[in-house]
Amino acid sequence: MLDGDPGRRLSTTAMRRARQVLPGGVNSPVRSFRSVGGSPPFFTRADGPWIEDLDQNRYIDMVLAYGPLILGHLNPAVVQAISRQLTRGEAMGGPTELEVDLAERIRDYMPSVEMVRLVNSGTEATMSAVRLARAATGRELILKFAGCYHGHSDSLLAEAGSGVATLSIPGSPGVTAGTVADTLVASFNDAAAVTDLFARRGEQIAAVIVEPIPGNMGVVLPRSGFLESLRQLTSDYGAILIFDEVMSGFRVARGGAQSLYSIRPDLTCLGKIIGGGLPVGAFGGRAELMSQMAPEGPVYQAGTLSGNPLAVAAGVATLEQLSADEPYLQMERLGARLERGIRLSAAAAQTAVQVNRVASMLTFFFCADPVFDYRSARQSDLALFSKVHRALLEGGVFWPPSQFESSFLSVVHTEELVDLVVESFARGLSG
Ligand SMILES: *Cc1c(COP(=O)(O)O)cnc(C)c1O
Repeated sequence: MLDGDPGRRLSTTAMRRARQVLPGGVNSPVRSFRSVGGSPPFFTRADGPWIEDLDQNRYIDMVLAYGPLILGHLNPAVVQAISRQLTRGEAMGGPTELEVDLAERIRDYMPSVEMVRLVNSGTEATMSAVRLARAATGRELILKFAGCYHGHSDSLLAEAGSGVATLSIPGSPGVTAGTVADTLVASFNDAAAVTDLFARRGEQIAAVIVEPIPGNMGVVLPRSGFLESLRQLTSDYGAILIFDEVMSGFRVARGGAQSLYSIRPDLTCLGKIIGGGLPVGAFGGRAELMSQMAPEGPVYQAGTLSGNPLAVAAGVATLEQLSADEPYLQMERLGARLERGIRLSAAAAQTAVQVNRVASMLTFFFCADPVFDYRSARQSDLALFSKVHRALLEGGVFWPPSQFESSFLSVVHTEELVDLVVESFARGLSG
């Protein structure tokens, strides 16, 4: 599968070299293009909505580092913030005011996050939030949803989305049966199943963790009442409701999915956008819960580079630029245009398509029935997805190389770029 990409010869060569020293040639599985075939472009530089590979192909970037770059690559204020910090020191090993700035900004936009702990990735955020929930409740079980991805910590890998879905592996070897036994899995949008699980085991459930708008089985929207029922059940049974907004936070709206649906979770996990392209994660929520974290409380969690000044400076500069409504209005217009273009192209090609979109997150599925959970997402015609993905790449569009990922728009994407994406999509269906 590494041959037959004449326009990407240098990338193909680089991949051969990479595979000798990196498993699968990559440091995160989905980057390998395994599910769509072909060899991935090796990237050399990026700017605004553009990303360029070793062979000097230029692509409209609809991946945006899988979500962080809501302002596009090399946003001037983000670059300036990082540069300024670079003249002052790259890591301090002690508290800085920048960390307070970021925490306050997060709380301003997302009032349920009264206190926050900064970490280095989304994985750390969810892992630690689950630990806190178990400590606070004295219970062991957690409930997650099939196709939701919460990073790669052991107890959250059961029926996970994202790369796990892409590679069709049921969880992962190396995760013990004991660990998985503490993780209950239900179907997203199936409130009746959750009600039933709580009726049977509610007294043992420490937390429900959910992507309120899943992006890791492709984009899926919560049905009216579903998130409300999670809020109600967790409250009734004394369990913690954890919203994993690592992707949706500051993406679907300034206040995240919790503001769109007016639901106040107990804990929220963040990442991606809050690092402005550098590695940051966070979890936070009710002050009474968060003050159980060490050193204020007994729940241990720590990190050598947590709150790293370069990363936090990038995050603050990113969030600052999201304080007005205009960026979100603009991305909504672009998202609607992309959605419309995809629907019209599919109709013209007489191809059944489902387009799931919230704001600047969008996934198309090639199937006749609505996609509302992991099972329905897997009805999509993956061979056709691969074909369209190739056409997009050939047309100069870097689209997520898996059916089970979300595409993203940024504030620097334009109508012209969206129309180019749609043209390549249409060519993929006709060719
Ligand atoms: C990306 C993502 C994670 C994992 O974040 P990492 O920084 O990759 O560890 C967790 N949850 C959700 C919803 C995500 O989209």
